[in-house]
Amino acid sequence: MKLPNKILKEIKKKCQKYWWNEKEEKKYNEIEKDLFKLLIFTILSQNTSSTNTWKAFNNLEEKVGVSPYILANADIEDIENAIKSGGLYKIKAKRIKNVAKEIIARWNGSLEWIRKSKEDEIREQLLSIKGIGRKTADVIISSIYGYKNAFVVDTHMFRIAKRLGIVEEKAGYEEVSKALANLFDWENDSNAVSYFWLLAKYICRAKNPRCKECPLKNYCKFGRDK
Ligand code: SF4
Repeated sequence: MKLPNKILKEIKKKCQKYWWNEKEEKKYNEIEKDLFKLLIFTILSQNTSSTNTWKAFNNLEEKVGVSPYILANADIEDIENAIKSGGLYKIKAKRIKNVAKEIIARWNGSLEWIRKSKEDEIREQLLSIKGIGRKTADVIISSIYGYKNAFVVDTHMFRIAKRLGIVEEKAGYEEVSKALANLFDWENDSNAVSYFWLLAKYICRAKNPRCKECPLKNYCKFGRDK
């Protein structure tokens, strides 16, 4: 199933108000230009809200700094204290330090090789580093090659894919990623996936999904059965 243009426009109209504020959007665009920062931002976003992710990232940048050499040499307690607001801070601090050390050991502290590599190679290399999972790797790949080649799946995307009925309840990351990528024809608005994500988060929310007002209600197994 492909989502018609008309529906994508409705989703955009419905979710426009949830779009990131100008300051956050500008800052995220800056982060995206630095693949190491993007990697750390994505690790910090694991299992927490975007508000907490921003707090943790900004604090880390201000109190410690975000570069492979700074983080590899920083005291783990300093990283922990800086990212406390992001939740699971002890685990994340360990992951961040380990990722920084690996990037120095393998690529002299630079991730620029990623820009000249194919998706599969990037994925394989990144997944071989402890602390980097499929979602984190796909965020990096999609920042270069777009969502068509690496459709990022987080809890909101898992939930909406299952409710829509485009995957089985037991489906894993790979299956959900492919099924969601298939909803788009990739010739539409380049922000269509971002609006779809906002719909998954704010309309197709975990508790009390707002099915009656959802542009996808006629396409959705869960919405129809309600
Ligand atoms: S109809 Fe309901 S369950 Fe289906 S996508 Fe919309 S909000 Fe989610």
